[in-house]
Formats: sequence, C-alpha cells, structure tokens
Amino acid sequence: MSSTVDVAIVGAGPYGLSVAAHLRASGTGFRQFGLPMKLWRENMPRGMFLKSQGFASNLSDPDGAFTLRAFCQASGLPYADYGLPVSLDTFVAYGQWFQRHCAPGLEETLVTSVAAKDGQFELALANGDVAQARQVVLAIGVEHFAHIPDQLSWLPESACTHSSAHTDLSVFRGQRVVVVGAGQSALESAALLHESGASVQLLTRKPTVNWNGAPLAPDRPLLQRMREPEAGLGSGWSTWFYSRKPNLFRHLPESSRIYRARTALGPAGASWLRDRVDGQVPIMTGQAIDRASAGSGEVRLGLVTGAGTHSDLAADHVIAATGYRPDVRRMAFLDEQLACQLRTVANTPAVGRGYESSVPGLYVVGPAVAPTFGPVMRFVYGADHAAGTVGRRLAGTAGRRSRMTVAAGR
Ligand SMILES: Cc1cc2nc3c(=O)[nH]c(=O)nc-3n(C[C@H](O)[C@H](O)[C@H](O)COP(=O)(O)OP(=O)(O)OC[C@H]3O[C@@H](n4cnc5c(N)ncnc54)[C@H](O)[C@@H]3O)c2cc1C
Repeated sequence: MSSTVDVAIVGAGPYGLSVAAHLRASGTGFRQFGLPMKLWRENMPRGMFLKSQGFASNLSDPDGAFTLRAFCQASGLPYADYGLPVSLDTFVAYGQWFQRHCAPGLEETLVTSVAAKDGQFELALANGDVAQARQVVLAIGVEHFAHIPDQLSWLPESACTHSSAHTDLSVFRGQRVVVVGAGQSALESAALLHESGASVQLLTRKPTVNWNGAPLAPDRPLLQRMREPEAGLGSGWSTWFYSRKPNLFRHLPESSRIYRARTALGPAGASWLRDRVDGQVPIMTGQAIDRASAGSGEVRLGLVTGAGTHSDLAADHVIAATGYRPDVRRMAFLDEQLACQLRTVANTPAVGRGYESSVPGLYVVGPAVAPTFGPVMRFVYGADHAAGTVGRRLAGTAGRRSRMTVAAGR
C-alpha cells in the first residue's frame, strides 16, 4: 500500500515523458507508469523514418535543453532542423535518453484500471501494486485505437493485420502482400516490403496518392515566408494555425474541430519517400473493398470503383495501414463509472483549456484530444503545448487540490 501522490502520469511516449519533465522541474510530486517509447519500439517497422522534420520532433522540457539536436550532438549522430529524415532508431534512442534524464522515476508497468475512490484516484498496476493519486494525466497515445475497416476486421490474423502489428516486414519476403491505405504508414510499409523482396500491391480508396513537397528553405525571402509560413506540421497558413495556436483552435465550432482534427494534414507521403514508391510499387487507386474472404492460405478481396466496376484481388496477406481512431469506449482500463462521467466530443474526452476533462483532476493529452486542441495533438510537436500547459496547471493546483480533498474528507 503506497501513500497518495499528487499526480499519476499514465504513459511514457513523447507526451507522457514531456509531462514528466515539466512536473519534475516544478517540483510537483508524481509517479509515472508505462513502457518507454513503446509504440515506436514495438509497433513501427524497422527501417522507417519519421515524417516530421528534426526541429518538429522534440520532446518537451521547460528549458528546451533535451532536444533531438542536443541528443544527436551528444551521440555523434547527424542532425538537421530541415531536410534530413530522422530514423526510427535515432528517435527511439532519443526518447530513451530523454527518459533517463527527465523522467528517471518511470515505473515500467501498465495501468490496468483507473477508478475514482474517496475523492482521489486509485490505479491498479499490472505488477500487482495499487497507486493512489489526487490527479491523473492520461498520455496513452494511440495503441488502444488501431483501426481496421469493417470489411477486413473479421479476417483471421494469419490473413490480415493492422500495420502496428509489424516491426519486421522482411518476414513477408517472397509473399504477395496487399497494403491498404494512402498515408505515410501505408506508403512507407509498401516501400519497405518491396525492398525486402515481397510482391506488394498498394490499394487506396482515394483517387490519387498525395505527396508532400520538400520542406521550404527557412531563409527564403520575407514575402515568400509571409505568403506560405513554415511551422511544426508543415507549410501554409492553416498548418501554421494548427501548429501554433491550439488554444484558438479550441474555440472553433465543434463540428469544424472534429472535421479538421480528422482530415487536416493527411493522408500524404513525405517527399523523400516518393522515389521509393512511384514506379516501384503497383498502386490501385479509387478502389473500395466490398468484401473479403480467407481460405486455403489465401485472402481474396472484392473491389469496387466509384463507377461501379467490380474486380477481385488475391494475396497471401493484407496489411491495413488504416490508422487509429481514438475512442473512450476502447480505453478498457477506465473504470466504467469514471468513463460514464466523461463528457466526449466525437467519442474522445472533451477537455478544457488546461487539458482537464469533465472529471475534475483527470487530464488527457495527445492524439485522444485532437478534436479539442486540433491536429497538432496527433504529432510529437504538440507535446510542448500539452506538457507546458498541464505542467503549469498541475504545479499550481496539486497542493491546493490536496488541501481541498483533505478538507472534504474531514
Ligand atoms: C507509423 C507511425 C509513424 C508516425 N510518425 C510520426 C512522425 O514522424 N512525427 C510525429 O510527430 N508523429 C508521428 N506519429 C504519430 C505519433 O503516434 C504521435 O506523434 C506520438 O507517438 C504521440 O505520443 P504519445 O505519447 O501521445 O503516444 P505514444 O507514443 O503512443 O505513447 C503512449 C504511451 O502510453 C503507454 N500506455 C498506453 N496504455 C497504457 C496503460 N494502460 N498503462 C500505462 N501506460 C500505457 C504506452 O506504454 C506508451 O508509453 C506516427 C505514428 C505512427 C503510428
């Protein structure tokens, strides 16, 4: 039985580690649970590169000292703010380095339940312990929310998997693999599969595959920079707004926030990936999957175009690189009563300007709050806003809340 701590952080990806760095710097008492950089270590393919630029791939600490640039300098690795893709290996090592320096007390275990009890929170841990906290920050990322389209979701794992199931795509050497999707994950998986000797077919519902342009030169003339400003998520005024103004995004009408959170900045491939896909991997565009069946070691997909033309496609395996859909109903570790009290927007927790949900003391950061703070929450770049805001908020309220809780409990 442990004593109550001011804050419990659930999660140890870019957002959870950044929140820890801010709380540690302010001297706020906290415990943190999660597996460091798990999504990046266990749910992404070896050989992958980040789509975000170097300067937009920093975790956040209050002094801005533990940047990707600082890590690369300390480790003798190449680094550039723009134009030099960051490898997955480098980013994982950076996250682990950041954790050692800024979140050394991380407890590497999962939280199996979060419930409200006696005016505070009780967290059950996978290692059998129980922790109490006055406030909880959920920084659980996307791993609970992998999305496979209905037509494929019932297929056995031997026939169809989500892209997050793979770290080593070379296991498909010599096999026919259909990759479904048109985003960076689909395009890069297709390239890696092709390069490891699989026979790949990329299948997308969209009529075309979109590619991002090369990053704009930061020192271009002022007029050009004013016409098309460059920010963390890319270039252009709307992208600048999403990158820099999550607090203003929050005031857009709800329907607009939901739509933009889902559709802005995607799906598209990074410019440096284009040569590895175009002319290398066959792409069928404008194709919806109508039906799917598996048997005799083969998957068969029935396809239909917008014009109503039907065709069939056979493969040894289908990889659904179809993204993630955050949804409170899939946060199985949340106690039912607590989950029922959560006000939601598009099935994600609605949070206020300090990232606090409708359950007092329960905070949510990262992709799960994109419909509130915007598309920046889907990217590492948003960790600075989230961790800075939550860090300031909790540094200011932890003691007060503990006094209130104690007073209420008298
Ligand atoms: C293939 C792919 C490529 C991407 N490339 C980029 C990119 O180039 N640039 C970019 O900015 N973004 C990229 N993203 C988006 C990326 O997912 C987010 O930017 C980032 O990971 C969000 O950080 P996070 O901390 O919220 O979540 P995550 O990185 O998903 O971390 C979640 C953490 O929560 C923990 N956790 C979950 N459940 C529990 C539990 N019950 N108990 C305890 N701990 C728990 C996990 O162990 C993990 O530590 C990519 C995503 C994918 C899938």
